[in-house]
Amino acid sequence: MSENCIFCKIAAGTIATQLLYQDELVLAFPDIAPQAPVHVLVIPRRHIVSLELLTEADRAEMGHLLERTAHVARQLGLQAGYRTIINTNAHGGQEVFHLHLHILGGKPIGPMVAR
Ligand code: AMP
Repeated sequence: MSENCIFCKIAAGTIATQLLYQDELVLAFPDIAPQAPVHVLVIPRRHIVSLELLTEADRAEMGHLLERTAHVARQLGLQAGYRTIINTNAHGGQEVFHLHLHILGGKPIGPMVAR
């Protein structure tokens, strides 16, 4: 756990959220500023700062994170489709430096357009 990390606090239960899924490695909860009708974040409990820092040692945990993301999306009824996003570091627009995956859905999200 990293002391000033908002997602570590959510994982520890010291900041309340609506937990949509949790197990010993990952949890999912709604984004506080939704960008789509369904906007959910899936995070590892462990404080990993960004995708850019992953190593071979993280493979199993990240495989679990991705598979559970699909599980959460199914639970949310998003079989028609959804977008997953991982923003990485400054140029990727990352604002919370605890690795997380966005699930965006509930309507056609459309093609990805680079700005
Ligand atoms: P990113 O730009 O990928 O780092 O996105 C961080 C996301 O975390 C943003 O979409 C925020 O709206 C979201 N966020 C920040 N604080 C909270 C919180 N306490 N609970 C849920 N989502 C949050």
